[in-house]
Amino acid sequence: MVLLVMKFGGTSVADVDHIRNVARHVKREVDAGNQCAVVVSAMAGQTNQLIEWTREAARLHDTREYDSVVASGEQVTSGLLAIILQDMGISSRSWLGWQVPIKTDSAHGSARIQEIPNSQFVDRVRGGEVGVVAGFQGISEENRITTFGRGGSDTSAVALAAALNADRCDIYTDVDGVYTSDPRIVQKAQRLDRISYEEMLEMASLGAKVLQTRSVEMAMVHNVRIQVRSSFENPEELEPATEGTWTGSGTLVCDEDEIVEKQIVSGIAYTKDEAKVTLLKVADKPGVAASVFGPLADASINVDMIVQNVSDDGNYTDLTFTVMSNDLDKTIKVIEAARSEIGYSDVKGSTDVVKVSIIGVGMRSHAGVAAKMFQALAEKGINIQAITTSEIKVSILIDSAYTELAVRTLHSLYDLDAE
Ligand code: ADP
Ligand code: ASP
Ligand code: MG
Repeated sequence: MVLLVMKFGGTSVADVDHIRNVARHVKREVDAGNQCAVVVSAMAGQTNQLIEWTREAARLHDTREYDSVVASGEQVTSGLLAIILQDMGISSRSWLGWQVPIKTDSAHGSARIQEIPNSQFVDRVRGGEVGVVAGFQGISEENRITTFGRGGSDTSAVALAAALNADRCDIYTDVDGVYTSDPRIVQKAQRLDRISYEEMLEMASLGAKVLQTRSVEMAMVHNVRIQVRSSFENPEELEPATEGTWTGSGTLVCDEDEIVEKQIVSGIAYTKDEAKVTLLKVADKPGVAASVFGPLADASINVDMIVQNVSDDGNYTDLTFTVMSNDLDKTIKVIEAARSEIGYSDVKGSTDVVKVSIIGVGMRSHAGVAAKMFQALAEKGINIQAITTSEIKVSILIDSAYTELAVRTLHSLYDLDAE
């Protein structure tokens, strides 16, 4: 017998028929004698709609009420799945975040899970009842509903898997695993059989939204084995989970030492969520960077890439950096407010940029990976506006018009294309 957490994303629960299909996946596991906690997202598009309504109600609004509204999509799907399971003769009930309880901090809109105590929920799942949990939500110390940020149901699932000490956490989605790049834009992308936590963490945080970054972080810390797989395969044709094995369908996210064949570059990710800010004619003297990035840090704005030009005359230079696009307006305001301390001639913001990244643990032991990347992009006439690197990734900022060309070029360059 295996204790399993199964998570189904928005497209997998898009309507009642899809939820019925999800129930068949659950039934397969229950029939095999496995214990299941199931996490569901809201129906596809529902969370966007709910967010839009909060904005329509008031552009600036109380984030506690925002959470109360946007958490409601998952309430609907969890209840519907429990109804369908019961109708199939499977013992089950729905659980909202607060009922489990999934305890979080009070950072509404992007709350962090702090604790899932042992409770009736845990006892009932261990006792064989299917617990259908509304993903994406928890409860704060102030007794308010919180949500975990977009894609947060993945994190609900991994947190529950850790709390239940589950054998496995299966993330069912609309693709059959983690690919070398987003299969929607790279037709030649290949499914990875396995990917290390570290690489998955970079892939997710650099734009591959197949798993929420926090869910990977949490899986890494608590050693939760994640299997990413498709909910659209025939539920009865898949093997139920058995102890100590993984069925081989989808992608297993696991420790690096469980991966035999290591690539130099395992994947290419991209994100359009960043915006570029350029300060023109900044004084080239000590303390200037602090005068720019100090006020941004005070305003809780995260800066990602930074490029400072060498000045021609030793007096002035240009300074470019990136922030999340939704922080762009706030960033410009902060920079304008600090104008007299910083001293610059003009500030420009633009959102028509994309960050493209190559990721792979093999980079640790191979030289020339970045040089090859820059050369290939130059040959395609793609100008690089900023660069950042870490031990296992290289990210570049380019004009967003070149997104697909850049991603596909790099995908071929590192031999990731499917035959
Ligand atoms: P869900 O609603 O099931 O949570 P998401 O839309 O959040 O699904 O995530 C699945 C999507 O992630 C896929 O449809 C795919 O387009 C996208 N994606 C981006 N990068 C990758 C990648 N490297 N591998 C697989 N999917 C990816
Ligand atoms: N429904 C939420 C969202 O769309 C959470 C999730 O799907 O994981 O972001
Ligand atoms: Mg998702």
